[in-house]
Amino acid sequence: MKKIIPLVLTSILFAVITFAQDLQTDIFETNKGDLSIHFVKHGSIFFEFDGKVIHVDPVTRMGDYENYPDADLILITHHHGDHLDLNAIALLKKENTKIILTKKCQEMSENLSDIIVMNNGDILNINQLEIEAIPAYNIKHKRENGNPFHPKGEGNGYVITFGDKKVLVAGDTENIPEIKSLENINVAFLPMNLPYTMTPEMVADAAKEFKPEVLYPYHYGKTDTSQLLELLKDEKEIEVRIKKM
Ligand code: ZN
Ligand code: ZN
Repeated sequence: MKKIIPLVLTSILFAVITFAQDLQTDIFETNKGDLSIHFVKHGSIFFEFDGKVIHVDPVTRMGDYENYPDADLILITHHHGDHLDLNAIALLKKENTKIILTKKCQEMSENLSDIIVMNNGDILNINQLEIEAIPAYNIKHKRENGNPFHPKGEGNGYVITFGDKKVLVAGDTENIPEIKSLENINVAFLPMNLPYTMTPEMVADAAKEFKPEVLYPYHYGKTDTSQLLELLKDEKEIEVRIKKM
């Protein structure tokens, strides 16, 4: 027992330190308290709001999911391996965790319980949040066989309403009309890598239309983020924030 207690304390301390060191966090004020956004890597992020933890596209190789807080809600944008990872879901899932995903993800997750399938256009109210699934697809970038990397209707982007703030996590998509026509988005995550998603020009083109207050490029791999800063330098209404992802 004497040995176990220091061991447990050390493990807890280690977990807390690891959690703090690995993550960059931004905090936004809402009319229902603070929203914390934690930036993991690539397409993986998570939110803390109103005592709840919401993970988006958790993937074990992107972060330290053993030590991140368990999820009340998990949102999966689509079935590709850099977004859907059943091991990460297993690590984060507790009793009552709900998992929101696409039809195609459902087909690939046979043994997963507590799931809610959302199609493009669906709106769901859950845990005091409103979640809208919007389309995510390629117009321009295609595989050699001519099929888009992300066909329309297969994947979701999510607009999540936290109190009076709206956050868009776009998923793997391009500068599609459904994003350009969004209104009142406070915080937006747009993907910026080739060949799968957008060039900096496409991200800038979309952002100029729907004018998020804060724009985070994510899922950007080796893309030079300074190009986006340059393209949007005259857009005073949009604050581009670059996180190490
Ligand atoms: Zn994808
Ligand atoms: Zn991806």
